Amino acid sequence: MHEPPVPGDGDFEFSIVPETDQSFENALAAARDGDRLTVDDGIELVTTGTDVDGIDPVRKEQVLEAADRRRAEVVGDEVTFVANLNNNVTTACNTGCLFCNFKDTAHRFEADSGADHAGFTKTPAESRAAVEEALGMGIYEVTSVSGLHPAFALNDEHHEILAGHDDPATQVNYKPPAVYETDPGTYLDQLRAMSVGGVHLHSMTPEEAAHARRGTDWSYESVYRKLRAAGLDSAPGTAAEILVEEVRDVICPGKIGSDEWVDAMEGAIAAGLDVTATMMYGHVENAAHRIHHLQTVRDLQDRTGGITEFVPLSFVHQNTPLYERGVVDGGASDAEDELVIAVSRLFLDNVENVQSSWVKFGDAKALKLLNCGANDLMGTILSEEITTRAGGTHGEFRSFADYVGMIDAIGRPAVERSTDYRTRRRIDHDDPPHGPELGPRADGTPLLGSRAAPGRDAAGADD
Ligand code: SF4
Repeated sequence: MHEPPVPGDGDFEFSIVPETDQSFENALAAARDGDRLTVDDGIELVTTGTDVDGIDPVRKEQVLEAADRRRAEVVGDEVTFVANLNNNVTTACNTGCLFCNFKDTAHRFEADSGADHAGFTKTPAESRAAVEEALGMGIYEVTSVSGLHPAFALNDEHHEILAGHDDPATQVNYKPPAVYETDPGTYLDQLRAMSVGGVHLHSMTPEEAAHARRGTDWSYESVYRKLRAAGLDSAPGTAAEILVEEVRDVICPGKIGSDEWVDAMEGAIAAGLDVTATMMYGHVENAAHRIHHLQTVRDLQDRTGGITEFVPLSFVHQNTPLYERGVVDGGASDAEDELVIAVSRLFLDNVENVQSSWVKFGDAKALKLLNCGANDLMGTILSEEITTRAGGTHGEFRSFADYVGMIDAIGRPAVERSTDYRTRRRIDHDDPPHGPELGPRADGTPLLGSRAAPGRDAAGADD
């Protein structure tokens, strides 16, 4: 555990700063030539040159153009998305990340707390019912990312180990399920419940995996093997935020460190799972931190080849402790978002897919980012408690008709994909109605009617 930030102290003395010995012109030439970029190259590109103050609009367009061309060379023009359900199991968490509005302090969920809260915990049976219903509607994937409920354990053996500590609440963040209004079951119970009917189960971030082995010396690989045996198909590489300790010390001092995040990802991949990777930017970090993060992801991919997509997540400040305590006064600008997507595409020469998240960016910008290096437009997200709880207004799901209309508007082919991108179906926009066909029970029937999703301000946690 590290020292938390001082509220109102918005300026941090970081040891990693955006200074380089490189020039913008040389970095741009390297990017255009397809050379592997150095950290200094990345910093020059994402800042449009450390020799100028602010973002130079002409240079910015040069970077975006290089990234768009690279995207076309690597993955072509198709814009992909997946038919998915978000089934988050619980909002109980006491980790206290300062960018998060998803958690509800876990003690409020205790049966005798008497405290009001807007959170929820689902039993395994409730999770199964949610997945069954969505399967019938045609989803391919269920994504499940939850708070770190103190009663969550990997399995019964883990419950015994945790309960055996002298002071489990303090030592290993554990209280027995009987303390709570609702028992979430074990992680294995929840995965078994959600893994029904051939659905692809995408769950267990590195932070959740750390929670599922707390108080033990179990390896991440062994934990992920058990999770896989219970039905897990792939793991989201969220909880990454910025993989630099001096930034994590400020925004998420209670979370695992960068090295452990990498360990967990390697364990998941060694257990035979695909993974994704994210970066949450636009809070206290600087441009150099962003590129160091990209380097960590690129190195991991060099070693493993297990990352199927990279997901840049622009920090949305509203309703978060970082904003409310005056630590930050806003998020990234549109130009910064464009440059982060573009430099992610250029720097991560070993990751094929870069995602533009309409939940984080809103529709208009999410589409624009598809011309800045991104090629994937996320998923239908039949339910998205994370975003709606933080006051988001982007709606809770995106229908196939919405997708086809949006992607058509930028003149690109819309493609339904599997989670791992290996199965794709190009959608004929002249042949409505549009619905999912890749899910185990999908038959082309539209998921639901189209729902308008007004302007930008969704916020939320990465888990
Ligand atoms: S980001 Fe995740 S671990 Fe951190 S407080 Fe929110 S729910 Fe808990």
